[in-house]
Amino acid sequence: MTTENHSLYSQIPSTDRLLRDEAFTLLLTEFGHNRVAQTLRQLQDEARDGIRQRQALPVWCNDWAQATYQRLLDENASALRPVINLTGTVLHTNLGRALQAEAAIEAVAQAMRSPVTLEYSLDDAGRGHRDQALADILCRLTGAEDACIVNNNAAAVLLMLAATGSGKEVVVSRGELVEIGGAFRIPDVMRQAGCFLHEVGTTNRTHVKDYREAVNDNTALLMKVHTSNYHIEGFTKTVDETELVALGDELNVPVIADLGSGSLVDLRLYGLPKEPMPQELIAAGVSLVSFSGDKLLGGPQAGIIVGKKALIEKMQRHPLKRALRADKMTLAALEATLRLYLHPEKLRDNLPTLRLLTRNPGEIRQQALRLAGVLADHYDAFDLSVEDCFSQIGSGSLPVDRLPSAALTFTPRDGSGRRLEALAATWRNLPEPVLGRIADGRLWLDLRCLENEPRFLEMLLK
Ligand SMILES: *Cc1c(COP(=O)(O)O)cnc(C)c1O
Repeated sequence: MTTENHSLYSQIPSTDRLLRDEAFTLLLTEFGHNRVAQTLRQLQDEARDGIRQRQALPVWCNDWAQATYQRLLDENASALRPVINLTGTVLHTNLGRALQAEAAIEAVAQAMRSPVTLEYSLDDAGRGHRDQALADILCRLTGAEDACIVNNNAAAVLLMLAATGSGKEVVVSRGELVEIGGAFRIPDVMRQAGCFLHEVGTTNRTHVKDYREAVNDNTALLMKVHTSNYHIEGFTKTVDETELVALGDELNVPVIADLGSGSLVDLRLYGLPKEPMPQELIAAGVSLVSFSGDKLLGGPQAGIIVGKKALIEKMQRHPLKRALRADKMTLAALEATLRLYLHPEKLRDNLPTLRLLTRNPGEIRQQALRLAGVLADHYDAFDLSVEDCFSQIGSGSLPVDRLPSAALTFTPRDGSGRRLEALAATWRNLPEPVLGRIADGRLWLDLRCLENEPRFLEMLLK
């Protein structure tokens, strides 16, 4: 150890001395003795490392209290950080899918603060059924006889199959044996539910006669799976729900459907691509229909099953229902979201998912032009321009269904890819990270999902 280093080391104050320092009083009150002392020891180690490697004390040693405070604050940052999603994907699975409606947020806060009548009937003080309130609204909205709510749509499919087809065969078209993402593949879920998959038809063509020939004494169900994330074109044939129900009725086999996204309103009324609606399948006579709460519906993560009372009751009694049931916060948010559908005239105003999906491209473009003007000076190493682009609905909705939108793009004047990456990294590290996407040598911010403009500007002008 050099004499010089020795004198540097002696400038690192002792833990005891620091903790007695007045500047630490507030920190001790706010974070507690153990955490503060632990953080201090960590910082002291780092200071010693700094001396060893650079023969100098790190700059932050000028203010130990401030450095400790900053470190404790960083540690306290939530793992679920709010971000500004300008990726162009509205229902972004990795960013938590649907933003909740204000009514849903209030309902959740309420359900968290006080005891609620989750499984408690106020009439006879007996035990109610936790999906009941939701089932009533879902029946009004879809025309179904009853409903069952679980954690997500993957759970809904598992429960439908386990409760109504376990130990028996389920007939599915080879064109519908989809993988949704992650480990969710229809043949695997089938196995987990104890069902035997009976594949029929081919990848591109399946006929009614294929289903008919597959049905035998051990057949429990005919199943349709909405091929939400891909599209086959050309020489194709599928059997629609109406035809399949006619066959099911004739052979006395129920038809069930995994609808995936499933929209409770006709999206064409809002100028969006059509998605199949649960109420259409119920009207066609399908016995059970499952769909997600946090895709096009715009609610919390949940799996919703609507259909025939006798089958729903089988699911409610199944042991898996207990394992997969939704909690009071989910149910509160879902109920509030579904209530918005009872007032369709106001749905677009009140439901963020629908509001974002239906934003006018011209209005998004105006917003982009306005913001480009405000930001240009601050980003003088980049050319800012406003470009037409396409947003995606996301979450397994057809990737070919794209929504015209507008983006603010940042192109490095010197064409440097590294500069572009650095800009994206800087924005990812903001207190509220701003997420775009890099393509064609630019950073694109699709402004479709930008509602809080002041917050965005506060971040980008940092
Ligand atoms: C998205 C999807 C699922 C899975 O739904 P989660 O709510 O994400 O669990 C299952 N089936 C289809 C057809 C889907 O599109």
